[in-house]
Formats: sequence, structure tokens, C-alpha cells
Amino acid sequence: MKHRHNERTFKDPVCGMEVSRMTAAEECVYQGKTYYFCAGTCREAFAADPEKYLRHHRQHGMKQK
Ligand SMILES: [Zn+2]
Repeated sequence: MKHRHNERTFKDPVCGMEVSRMTAAEECVYQGKTYYFCAGTCREAFAADPEKYLRHHRQHGMKQK
């Protein structure tokens, strides 16, 4: 894994694409967490039904606080 300063990547919860603060087209704060999206259409889909996409991304053995 390469370490580049400040280039944390986030998973677009809608399409699963990896985006960073630099490459994300859109962002959305939901329940105090910031989510990043590759495109406005993904953000809109998420904003319309956030729970649907968050439920999808249940991580194995990791509980989110
Ligand atoms: Zn996307």
C-alpha cells in the first residue's frame, strides 16, 4: 500500500468506487459522517435513501459506532 500525504480514499457508498477528497465530485454529510461521491448522480441517489446504501456496506466483523 502506498502512503501519500493526505490522500485518504473513501468508498462511494452508491457505486463502490474509491474516491479521495481530491477526486470526489460531491460530498454529503449524513449522521455526522462525510461521504464522498464520484458524481452528482451518486450523491443524489444516496441522499434520497441513505440507509439503503449504508446497510449494503455492512463490514465483516467491524461494528461502526
Ligand atoms: Zn459513484
